[in-house]
Amino acid sequence: MPKQRSINPATGDVVFEIEDHTDAAVEERLAAASHAAKAWRERPVAERVTVLQRAAELLEQDRGMFGRMMTQEMGKTLTSALAEVDKCASGCRYYAAHAAQFLAPDVVVNTGGERGEARFEPLGTVLAVMPWNFPFWQVIRFAAPALAAGNTGLLKHASNVPRCAIALEELFVRSGAPRGVFQTLLVGSSRVAAIIGDARVHAVTLTGSEPAGRSVASTAGQHLKKTVLELGGSDPFVVCASADVERAAEVGVTARCINNGQSCIAAKRFIVVDAVADAFLERFDARMRALRVGDPMDPATDVGPLATRAIRDELHEQVTASVAAGARISLGGAPMDGPGNYYPPTILSSIPPSAPAWSEELFGPVALVFRVPDLDAALALANGTRFGLGASVWTRDPLEAERAARVLDAGSVFVNGMVASDPRFAFGGIKASGYGRELGAWGLREFVNIKTLRVFGAWPQTDGVHRTPPG
Ligand code: NAP
Repeated sequence: MPKQRSINPATGDVVFEIEDHTDAAVEERLAAASHAAKAWRERPVAERVTVLQRAAELLEQDRGMFGRMMTQEMGKTLTSALAEVDKCASGCRYYAAHAAQFLAPDVVVNTGGERGEARFEPLGTVLAVMPWNFPFWQVIRFAAPALAAGNTGLLKHASNVPRCAIALEELFVRSGAPRGVFQTLLVGSSRVAAIIGDARVHAVTLTGSEPAGRSVASTAGQHLKKTVLELGGSDPFVVCASADVERAAEVGVTARCINNGQSCIAAKRFIVVDAVADAFLERFDARMRALRVGDPMDPATDVGPLATRAIRDELHEQVTASVAAGARISLGGAPMDGPGNYYPPTILSSIPPSAPAWSEELFGPVALVFRVPDLDAALALANGTRFGLGASVWTRDPLEAERAARVLDAGSVFVNGMVASDPRFAFGGIKASGYGRELGAWGLREFVNIKTLRVFGAWPQTDGVHRTPPG
């Protein structure tokens, strides 16, 4: 049986390994999910969300343990891992507080002779195929709304974070989720298609790369199952002539290097208007140079190692091929010696359209810099990508801000701030960045049956008692 393996990205040491689930174990979990779904959907929302409240408490209680687990498995700094645990707790609390409101029927018609409403009912069992880069938050942002809506969840996590995968199942069990409501499947990606095809799975959500998205969506399409896809991005960070360049440079470095540069919504392309290009780039370069690369457990570290050796090799190939195509390196650009998957903060400029850096996502601390004459050119370049996840615009001119917000092809546009997810706002992309939305009421309603109910002559009451309408 193949194994899932945790390799500490800072040292290269194997810290944990476990055999994949056998077909019989997967079958047992599918049966448990299906069985649990029938009872779970019948529980009032107020009861279902007590599991989320308890999960929030446990996340806070065991914050240090969960944070260290993430850092050891995928290399993010402990500081950002702890912040991720906190975000998971607040995400759980957000749905605990708001799920009932999001699931309340929308009344469309309510006259003496007719009542018509939209109800939001669970679909059944949702399979979540998740990435390693935010190993807790990606899972919680699927699981909290899906479970609150009355679905059961099956997690197929990335194969390099099995401890996080197991800990998440344990978290929900400890939080009081009945058996089968949330389970982890320890399987490699080659077994996902068969699970999607199983009649007991009703929908799939995938966060990951474009190839994985295409594969999962085509299998789900064959089986006519609902999908949500959160895929890659090459987010623009547009610096306009009126921008506060000091602040833009400070936030730009964080937006590029957060999570060791491995975030779908990291600022990847810095598109700077000529009038402020020298001033911005001087500050940006100085701040990139000042970043401390090192042990992710050390609170003084800004940038830890990349999650796997293969990811570092791929990033370096993209940089090397871009330089061969004519791009210029002004900082970094070579893997660091020694154990661990360290790659230094890097800046590439003069990037030609033939370079991989022009058209591909670079998943690591590599900033791509483009100088343009004006805002029109900036917006055209920003949109000239097959991705459409997030975009950040820096300007002090409200008309410029409004124009950029309207023109940019992206799921989110942030003005004078870095793109970030927040439980209150919809999160997702367009074009090759995927489709569907997570978070807010929008995310919760992705995995529900929006059921039209029209009743003529009798009023259904939530207490199950039918009354004759007045008049
Ligand atoms: P990945 O290689 O696509 O893996 C993501 C998940 O998909 C893993 O569980 C992986 O399983 C599985 N998978 C891979 N190929 C598959 C296939 N053909 N069929 C079924 N499942 C498959 O992506 P990653 O390298 O872990 O994550 C980085 C990517 O995720 C980047 O492109 C990033 O931008 C994107 N991302 C997007 C968002 C967003 O919200 N839009 C958020 C975070 C990350 P194995 O590990 O077993 O291969």
